[in-house]
Amino acid sequence: MKNNRTNFSTQTKELIGKLSGYHCSFPECSQYTIGMTESDEKKKVSSIGVACHIYPATSNPKVARYDSKIPKDFLKSENNGIWMCQNHAKLIDDDDSSYTADLLFFWKKISEIKIQNSQRNTKNSKEIDFPLVSSIITPSNLLNIKIAEFTNTLFLAEIWGKDESFAIKELLIELSKNAFDHGKASDVTIHCNKHAIIFKYKGSKFNPLRELLEHKKKNGGAKMVEKFSEVFNNKIILKYDYANEFNELKITSWLNTKIQNIMEQLQPCSINLQNHRQISQEFTTIDSCEEVHILAPLHLSISDIGQISISNKLSKRKKKVYLYVSEASSILKSELLERYSGAVIVEYKNLE
Ligand SMILES: [Zn+2]
Repeated sequence: MKNNRTNFSTQTKELIGKLSGYHCSFPECSQYTIGMTESDEKKKVSSIGVACHIYPATSNPKVARYDSKIPKDFLKSENNGIWMCQNHAKLIDDDDSSYTADLLFFWKKISEIKIQNSQRNTKNSKEIDFPLVSSIITPSNLLNIKIAEFTNTLFLAEIWGKDESFAIKELLIELSKNAFDHGKASDVTIHCNKHAIIFKYKGSKFNPLRELLEHKKKNGGAKMVEKFSEVFNNKIILKYDYANEFNELKITSWLNTKIQNIMEQLQPCSINLQNHRQISQEFTTIDSCEEVHILAPLHLSISDIGQISISNKLSKRKKKVYLYVSEASSILKSELLERYSGAVIVEYKNLE
């Protein structure tokens, strides 16, 4: 059996540890795994860190995350290793339904970016994709905890910010309670695609962004939706859809995601004018959209604004307009606001 294993070399193990700063990569752990041994005249290093295989090193199909298609060279490479403390190394090896390869690759990336950023004292400027994970939540006393576990899994604090992360957790709790108490939902699903978190349940149509906000007496859910929109208006984007008896609320952000990918998430309520110089576009499905997201052309100047012929059509339909600009002066932004009165100007950062 021994020969069948595709172990990491000592050098590779060391590299995996170093890239994560010898911190455990498990959410909410980040334990230091190396330190000095106690009461010793000669100082020695004690390590409780493990370079874990994401795809397993054995050819035994019963082992967690086994996949016969993965080449041996990859199995023993640094790319297939994630650094964990001993407890979490054991945990991820025992349960491959919770700890999928996709999820572990995501944690590895987050762990390495965290260390790189703290060394450079900078913020990340690369796109980070969410893993394709999902959680089914049923009404119970553990609802809040289950939702917190889900948001922790996604390292939202690292990707979108700490306050944003807590607020999304609280928003998801309120939306779930609302779905159970008023929407007669038996369960709700929270899942991810690469660039968004999606809250979903089966039931009659209920748009929390409109109907909760119209409540005269604001309860927990309505208050949360209202404050959330106020505080994170131009950072975290909420988009509601109803299809095939499912209510769906998409939570997304241009923070750590390329703006073009966000525009895709917001379709059909988005229009990407980034590479246009002549601007005369018409929305076809706009009537079903509560709001419209427009990605302005790069390096816009005042005379270009006059060419945005969609502005009149939008204002006639009283749509809320979000205008995404990058590298624009305060002069240009105030001109844009004059043209699109009531619009929200979102200044995004171009990512690598
Ligand atoms: Zn740990």
